[in-house]
Amino acid sequence: VPETADAVLDGLDPEQREVAKALTGPVCVLAGAGTGKTRAITHRIAYGVRAGILQPGSVLAVTFTNRAAGEMRGRLRQLGAGGVQARTFHSAALRQLQFFWPKAVGGDLPRLLERKVQLVAEAAARCRVRLDRNELRDVTGEIEWAKVTQTVPADYPAVVAKSLRDAPRDPAEISQIYAMYEQLKRDRSVIDFEDVLLLTVGILQDRHDIADQIRSQYQHFVVDEYQDVSPLQQRLLDLWLGDRDNLCVVGDASQTIYSFTGATPDHLLNFRTRHPGATVVKLVRDYRSTPQVVHLANGLLSQARGRAAEHRLELISQRDPGPEPTYTEYADEPTEAEGTARRIRDLVAAGVPAGEIAVLYRINAQSEVYEQALADAGVPYQLRGAERFFERQEVREAGIALRGAARAGGNDSLLDDAEDLPSQVRAVLSTKGWTGRPPAGSGAVRDRWESLAALVRLAEDFARAKSGATLSDLVAELDERAAAQHAPTVQGVTLASLHAAKGLEWDAVFLVGLTEGMMPITYAKTDEQVEEERRLLYVGVTRARLHLTLSWALSRSPGGRANRRPSRFLKGLRPGSGSLGTVAGGASGSVERAVGAAGRRKPRGPVLCRVCGATLTEAGAMKLMRCEDCPSDMDEALYERLRDWRSEQARELGQP
Ligand code: ATP
Ligand code: MG
Repeated sequence: VPETADAVLDGLDPEQREVAKALTGPVCVLAGAGTGKTRAITHRIAYGVRAGILQPGSVLAVTFTNRAAGEMRGRLRQLGAGGVQARTFHSAALRQLQFFWPKAVGGDLPRLLERKVQLVAEAAARCRVRLDRNELRDVTGEIEWAKVTQTVPADYPAVVAKSLRDAPRDPAEISQIYAMYEQLKRDRSVIDFEDVLLLTVGILQDRHDIADQIRSQYQHFVVDEYQDVSPLQQRLLDLWLGDRDNLCVVGDASQTIYSFTGATPDHLLNFRTRHPGATVVKLVRDYRSTPQVVHLANGLLSQARGRAAEHRLELISQRDPGPEPTYTEYADEPTEAEGTARRIRDLVAAGVPAGEIAVLYRINAQSEVYEQALADAGVPYQLRGAERFFERQEVREAGIALRGAARAGGNDSLLDDAEDLPSQVRAVLSTKGWTGRPPAGSGAVRDRWESLAALVRLAEDFARAKSGATLSDLVAELDERAAAQHAPTVQGVTLASLHAAKGLEWDAVFLVGLTEGMMPITYAKTDEQVEEERRLLYVGVTRARLHLTLSWALSRSPGGRANRRPSRFLKGLRPGSGSLGTVAGGASGSVERAVGAAGRRKPRGPVLCRVCGATLTEAGAMKLMRCEDCPSDMDEALYERLRDWRSEQARELGQP
């Protein structure tokens, strides 16, 4: 922990210091990947807190993923500024909703809907529309899209017509199913993930007393990855701010990758117009990556088009030279996975910690073959879902019940016979049907029982460690633990989609599956969509500190037709791919060809969803493993649900 507030500023360059010291009024940092934007805002908060200018509890920092939020909280603690709220828009909103719901609406916040696909199926049936499994997914994705873009059922057909979207069915029919789905949710008193932001905005708009209460708690707002803020999130931010202007945003227009939620870099690029007098700072020194990686990133962006590209900032690496990026062509996907796993094993043997290595792909459905290959190579990897205890449905429901009981305090007759804490917890859980006796056998019922039993044990340990602890203390402890669970575990290789890799970094990054059809993905048809895919690859490239490997496979399965081509974005970047003239400095690195076919094996045992921990099932003709209805409230999960099944559909139709 730095000894003084000023010591927090050590380790920042002059521009970053300017950001850190601008503690009031609007501040905007425009800068490329790896230039220390996140570091600058983290140190800014820590400096303000340590200097006594910011109250830790009055700061709300918004990051894009739960993982990034966890990292920021950890960093703030190291800088001596614990207690600052760092959350995603969703989790910040969910917390506020839970707190204000009883006052604004009455009763506890409705349960979060777990089986969305099932409810859409029911809605379709009531509308007398028959949907097969794939159609059901498409319609569900379409409803999610409508909600994140704030399109109500009645407007959906017109909006679709205007946006030139390919609706998976007759838009009038989807609009009907959508309306019925909303009705069913109301009837059953459940809300879905999109509702979390919509309802929070609604309450803050209508209830000035509640808005004032939130505003009096939070005085300072900091938003990371601001280029991807959606109109709905911007609205929420405006409501949080009220007529104040203590807002610090950082972003990189070249990393706009969530435009399907309606996000545009315009909020970032027009910041000065909306906030006259804003302090605007640009950063260009890249502290993350070697000159070789930065060269590739600059080359990739030099081919970009569109508004974001006009604001591109050439990066200048501050690091010593490292290895050239490698490009590897494989015969088929399993071979690509095996080759990648072998290289990872070599890196680990050479001393690179597994936690410093990532395999990044375009869609989550690509992960399975890598999970298999890493397991075969004996390399640990992160199966995050399996350990996300606090995201299990029964644990979340128990959390809501405990919070309600804590709020009711001594007034709850339920607790009359219990003041030690573990018996109170047991009493509350008994309202959820939990008894001290385990159900017979194994399976889902038993699993649920075990989760709640673990919660009781946790309460027992907590009460032992902290005598006199109340239910409210326990609830706070559970919140803290749930948040900590999102902090990165450092032992294993990370498998993640490019979208989920945003803002993070590793010593070694493997960008896999870089074929036409995957990168850009088949359904990216318009110029803008293709540009967004290019930015996604840019995000991937700039995650690497030192080692960067790009690869693709010519065929999907061993012995299959070699009908795939390497991504068009690699043209001019990899040697021998032509059009070198378009890339500043020309191509670097080397292309390797790996041949040989590996047999495709069945995964051993159940494969778990890395987001929610549910058992995945094989779906569609491609036999991809996927999660039926991921119950996570994370933004990246929302994204994947929107996209995965669309690309799967396209592939099933025989496109590359
Ligand atoms: P992205 O756009 O990918 O989110 P970023 O601009 O937020 O990137 P950071 O993650 O803050 O960049 O920083 C990238 C890396 O560079 C981190 O490892 C960070 O610790 C390091 N770094 C940033 N600024 C400095 C500095 N002034 N001195 C040394 N290292 C730095
Ligand atoms: Mg960042």
